Amino acid sequence: MCMSFVSALINADKANHTDPSPGFSKLTAAEAEKSIAGNLCRCTGYRPIADACKTFAADVDIEDLGLNSFWKKEDSRDMKVSKLPPYDPSKNLNFSTFPRFLTSEPAAYLDSRKYPWDTPASVDELRSLLQSNLAENGARIKLVVGNTGTGYYKETQRYDRYIDLRYIPDLSIIRFDHIGIEVGAAVTISKLISFLKEENKINLSSYGKLVSQKLAQHMEKIASPFVRNSASVGGNLVMAQKNGFPSDIATLFLGLGATICVMTSQGHEKLTFEEFLARPLLDSRSVLLTLLIPFKKEGSSTCSKFLFETYRASPRPLGNALAYVHAAFLADVSSHGNGILINVIQLAFGAYGTKHPTRAKQVEEYLTGKILSINVLSEALKLVKQAVVPEDGTTHPDYRSSMVVSFLFKFLFCFTNVGPMISGGLLNGITLVEEVSESNKDGYISEGKPHTLLSSAKQVVESSKEYHPVGEPMKKIGASMQASGEAVYVD
Ligand SMILES: Cc1cc2nc3c(=O)[nH]c(=O)nc-3n(C[C@H](O)[C@H](O)[C@H](O)COP(=O)(O)OP(=O)(O)OC[C@H]3O[C@@H](n4cnc5c(N)ncnc54)[C@H](O)[C@@H]3O)c2cc1C
Repeated sequence: MCMSFVSALINADKANHTDPSPGFSKLTAAEAEKSIAGNLCRCTGYRPIADACKTFAADVDIEDLGLNSFWKKEDSRDMKVSKLPPYDPSKNLNFSTFPRFLTSEPAAYLDSRKYPWDTPASVDELRSLLQSNLAENGARIKLVVGNTGTGYYKETQRYDRYIDLRYIPDLSIIRFDHIGIEVGAAVTISKLISFLKEENKINLSSYGKLVSQKLAQHMEKIASPFVRNSASVGGNLVMAQKNGFPSDIATLFLGLGATICVMTSQGHEKLTFEEFLARPLLDSRSVLLTLLIPFKKEGSSTCSKFLFETYRASPRPLGNALAYVHAAFLADVSSHGNGILINVIQLAFGAYGTKHPTRAKQVEEYLTGKILSINVLSEALKLVKQAVVPEDGTTHPDYRSSMVVSFLFKFLFCFTNVGPMISGGLLNGITLVEEVSESNKDGYISEGKPHTLLSSAKQVVESSKEYHPVGEPMKKIGASMQASGEAVYVD
């Protein structure tokens, strides 16, 4: 938690933010909260920890801090601020975040005589290592990048050799040109997000900007910042291909028609993402090298625009939980009279209860060439319900199916010609109708608003009445004070 917060502070200092008022850092309160969000514990101590982190932020709502119990009501903001410890980057960050007592431990765990590690420095070196005598003699080899996969798939066997892919420059590239964004398989999810969020991609087409923005927003909900800092994009996709892991990235790449390059014992294979998922499972000597997110040519006709949206339903909407369903939709549309004509559409769904994410091709075929109307939408929703079906044994199948339908509805509804007609009547009060679609003259349309950092939920737990009042829920007296920040903690 501390390391993540310190790195957020350092990154904020490097970022192009406006200079903060004296005593504060460039970090915003939202960034402070986000940096520690990876810690799932929300017990009584969480609020004061979050408050302490937010005291570094110049935009902090000083009245909202739990510390306000120590302030007098009539004190001015300046007076209150003067009671906070001032932030000085030159003094405060001049320390090592790695605990000294731990420095000897990693060496003991990673004893190279016990667990031999190879660190090839090029793809050629990696290839010869995989083809060496050692490999041919049936040695069990494991390719490793961040090793976060063991968080999901417990290792039941030891390997004879471990090969670390992080030092191969070709596997760590991220670059873009007019063809698309190329990503090395060992690039971490955090690095890819930062790259996609960089604002200096002036030469990027509007399609490229739209895709970058949406991918970054979605990927920020994968796992937690701590995991994303080590987890590689390639490792994630290999887990999806080999283990049927419900990978968000696989669904996003399927929706975008990404391609990949794999090195096998036969040579290099270039595959579409769909072919990659459908091919026989990668063996331990095959290496995912790079991925390409292709850019589309700007619209099939001058008046056409691209839509790209991603969706995710999970127990925690801001991330830190595997999704029940995720989806990525890409469409090329143009205006046609009073309506919107769908020229091309790609609908990818994942995690809903199949081994791999899939494209709803029947629905795509149905929608292609149609002008969106309420009847077309209704038929598409019926079709998607039949096409995207959780396999037997999947938990919450009805919920997942309903989310599949809802996501498609959400994507298409604002572009039907009925929205304005009924917004004052039948669907009054439904937020979707109130959402504004931003139309960008540059060639793409973006729907919806960014999610706020805080969310609320209600859970009703039924208890047996047999031993009433035993089992009746009781409110913890201090809970609301702790959650609101009014509780005062003393030593
Ligand atoms: C707590 C937690 C939460 C998570 N939540 C999500 C989530 O919400 N959504 C989501 O999509 N993912 C999620 N993940 C998965 C996470 O993204 C992956 O674990 C991670 O991306 C794997 O990358 P890695 O570098 O750690 O791979 P490793 O663990 O090093 O490797 C994983 C597997 O891939 C193989 N491998 C790695 N790189 C290559 C390569 N280049 N070529 C061939 N084989 C290779 C390894 O041999 C191994 O079998 C979560 C993981 C954790 C631990």
